[in-house]
Amino acid sequence: MGQRFYSTNSPGDFVELKEAVLRSLPADNGLYMPETIPTLDADFWSSWREWSFAELGYQIVSPLFAGAVPEETLREMVSEAVNFDAPLVKIGERMHVLELFHGPSLAFKDFGARFMARLMGWLTWEDERELTVLVATSGDTGGAVASAFHQVPGTQVVVLYPRGKVSDLQEKQLTTLGGNITALEVEGTFDDCQRLVKAAFLDRELAERRNLTSANSINIARLVPQTFYFFHAARQLPEGRAVVFVVPSGNFGNLTAGLLARRMGLPVKQFIAATNVNDVVPAYLESGNYEPRASVATISNAMDVGAPSNFARMLELHGQEHGEMTRRMVGYRFDDEQTRAAIREVKVSTNYVIEPHGAVGYLAAEEWRVAHPEDEMVILETAHPSKFLDVMEEELGEGAIDIPERLACLAKREKVAVAMPPEEAAFLAWLR
Ligand SMILES: *Cc1c(COP(=O)(O)O)cnc(C)c1O
Repeated sequence: MGQRFYSTNSPGDFVELKEAVLRSLPADNGLYMPETIPTLDADFWSSWREWSFAELGYQIVSPLFAGAVPEETLREMVSEAVNFDAPLVKIGERMHVLELFHGPSLAFKDFGARFMARLMGWLTWEDERELTVLVATSGDTGGAVASAFHQVPGTQVVVLYPRGKVSDLQEKQLTTLGGNITALEVEGTFDDCQRLVKAAFLDRELAERRNLTSANSINIARLVPQTFYFFHAARQLPEGRAVVFVVPSGNFGNLTAGLLARRMGLPVKQFIAATNVNDVVPAYLESGNYEPRASVATISNAMDVGAPSNFARMLELHGQEHGEMTRRMVGYRFDDEQTRAAIREVKVSTNYVIEPHGAVGYLAAEEWRVAHPEDEMVILETAHPSKFLDVMEEELGEGAIDIPERLACLAKREKVAVAMPPEEAAFLAWLR
């Protein structure tokens, strides 16, 4: 039977991997967690520096999913999902950037989405009916999910995005793949897109008939592969140094994956939660009061989150105790003006081009370093600067950013999208 999963709201009830992944969100609105978090053994630590990145990932996920997926299948899944690198770039004395944007959609979400797509494909391989994956996106998630599921047999993907509210290149990432990927251009906001998706799941008969599943960011299958690159970063540093990870955060999936990596045995001195003015978690760390609120728009817009969806997992990983969390994590927040200044400063002082999310991380790293000059700092760079071209050119000048070929070539492709009014009835009828 192998590893099982429970909801943070019902610690005594367990489900198997297939249910945790295909359900995504437990019925009680908690979040799925593995029953056992294994500690990596001496065999792992004697070889971890030598393996390829994909093999390292397999060696981490194998004990986590023990018995739930055949070993060779799992190894193959990881090697297909992690087919690009996450290099650690030194930008100053004891200051490093972990580049997580070398995948097809140029953001770290490729790691989670590519692994989840293959796992879902395998879990439903013997089911007679096709799986329909619904995803609402405000930008980065849709591109990663569409690219990850493209041509995965037995799956259909429906991406809902708000008309005129994603960047041109983001829209091309959703609307030019074709095949099993259908883009719905919703005449409304991101919230409307989410509401339509929710309505489809609430229609039990439709959800059953179309075999609906969700690819949203709280899926446990997206979280697990995000642990890989914390190990990969640590092994690129000199041995025996204290590592501090600075994680630019919105829904806190990345930071939660880091905490999971530490629970599996990765030596980490400290995690730093870096946010923009949407600072619910830094405020919680300071006051002990968790107060979600409406989000505020910023230039680091993938972190504009007012109710971080992984908060329940972070609490669970700290024994539900505020005091425990404050001993292990510290939070800093920065506004847009500081972020813009940091983009310029990093360029001038190190010649590195850092995008707005990474720049928030850089500010947090500098703040921590004042009192801890000996620590090795690793800042997660969550996306490629070309995804935020407007802001980057405002700060560094026109032409300062190289657009990678895989993004540039999308500009020439033709957009294909289905226009959809923001009404539930219309969407449900279309799905039927
Ligand atoms: C999704 C995203 C984030 C936020 O990550 P979380 O895991 O939700 O905290 C940060 N930066 C970029 C570029 C993203 O796309």
